Amino acid sequence: MASTTNTSFGKGRPDEYIDAVMNQVKAKNPAEPEFHQAVQEVLESLRVVLHRHPEFQSAALLERIVEPERVILFRVPWFDDRGGMRVNRGFRIEMNSAIGPYKGGLRFHPSVNLGILKFLAFEQVFKNSLTTLMMGGGKGGSDFDPKGKSDGEVMRFCQSFMTELCRHIGPDTDVPAGDIGVGGREIGFLFGQYKRIRNEFTGVLTGKGLNWGGSLIRPEATGYGCVYFADEMLKSRKDSLAGKLCLVSGSGNVSQYTVEKLLDLGAKPITLSDSGGIIYDPAGIDREKLAWVMDLKNQRRGRISEYAEKFKGADFVAADANRDHNPMWAIKADCAFPSATQNEINAKDAANMLKNGVKVVSEGANMPSTLDATRLFLEANILYGPAKAANAGGVATSGLEMSQNSMRLGWTREEVDKRLHGIMCSIHKTCAETAETYGTPGNLVNGANIGGFLKVANAMLDQGLV
Ligand code: NDP
Repeated sequence: MASTTNTSFGKGRPDEYIDAVMNQVKAKNPAEPEFHQAVQEVLESLRVVLHRHPEFQSAALLERIVEPERVILFRVPWFDDRGGMRVNRGFRIEMNSAIGPYKGGLRFHPSVNLGILKFLAFEQVFKNSLTTLMMGGGKGGSDFDPKGKSDGEVMRFCQSFMTELCRHIGPDTDVPAGDIGVGGREIGFLFGQYKRIRNEFTGVLTGKGLNWGGSLIRPEATGYGCVYFADEMLKSRKDSLAGKLCLVSGSGNVSQYTVEKLLDLGAKPITLSDSGGIIYDPAGIDREKLAWVMDLKNQRRGRISEYAEKFKGADFVAADANRDHNPMWAIKADCAFPSATQNEINAKDAANMLKNGVKVVSEGANMPSTLDATRLFLEANILYGPAKAANAGGVATSGLEMSQNSMRLGWTREEVDKRLHGIMCSIHKTCAETAETYGTPGNLVNGANIGGFLKVANAMLDQGLV
């Protein structure tokens, strides 16, 4: 008779079980600090869940959920404009498909490595679950740097990348989207090559152009959603964004539409940044200045330092890797919207923000706060919207794009925006209610982690040991 012995950690107490899983994650995935960080944050939130639900431990749920279902790693060779041969590394992490096809963006940035994509794929699982749509979690990308490359070079790279990736994805299997370094231009080149090789016009990518299957509001969705989430948090304290001074980091897709929605709701955004440094405009970034930034970043592909040359009264502070803090987070403000990249707020930055009056943090970027910074925000009891919840509007609208593609129709701008707004309100409600149910009212980190986990974990129980 087959042995029923659980060879993993299923027999210890829940806290010992969680510690054992965390130790195993570190041992089995060395040199992947971002992945460890993302897993640790979720596992800490799950202690109380494991005490109430021993069935998850008996089914080795945690060991399974931290292990990707599949990791694809491949060579991406391409020719530069001078005929030189270049080689990059491509990845796709298919993390979890318990509640739908893998779904998550592609990141093209020189810092990309396996650990960063695994952290992003892991977070994506819980985020996608919170949206209420049927989407599993995945993430991918390459260490290719689109900055300084011609359109022709970007196209040849995208074509080579998709030549391999197209074997692994499909509208019912895995549906990638954009992320850092992957916007409308790259999605176009990727889609073109998929269609050419597979000979099918299908919703295999989201973030597509409007006249070939894209959804209205998809480009705006992450930034808009992040502001809607902040607005919901403020409403819970009978407050609003009107008149609030706002720090926004980054100057890409998420940052641009965060600024736009902040202006719609009467707030005053005063900063932006890129990897070269930050700009601070005490007069506020108005619609005219935002249009100039969009042209700078999306068409001319220039640097944010040019903002301070263009607009009087604005300052530019260059990035300095030797500094122990980011000067943006030491500017006096009411709200912060980190929208650039992971770990852009450390403990010192968080302390500066709290000292200078920041009462709302809504995370547009993925995991922008270190574990220490997160702890400080929670202890200070400010309104803190973690990325999994606050930036889920992007993938939610990707889900809406998939629905429109399946039905072969397109909703109006108003319809999509209304659905996005509804989803962000419902995510906030789920997080707030779950935090309360599990004994930590107001702690939206626990609310998001537990709320996202329960749906996926129950689906995994139903589907057996796969
Ligand atoms: P973009 O490529 O459009 O913009 C990224 C911005 O962040 C740029 O200003 C970039 O500056 C800056 N940045 C990137 N990496 C670094 C770094 N290592 N140090 C300093 N600055 C950096 O990307 P998105 O706006 O799409 O993505 C921003 C964040 O939002 C990411 O964390 C992403 O994962 C997250 N996100 C995006 C979603 C989407 O729908 N696009 C959905 C959910 C989350 P520079 O140009 O100089 O590199």
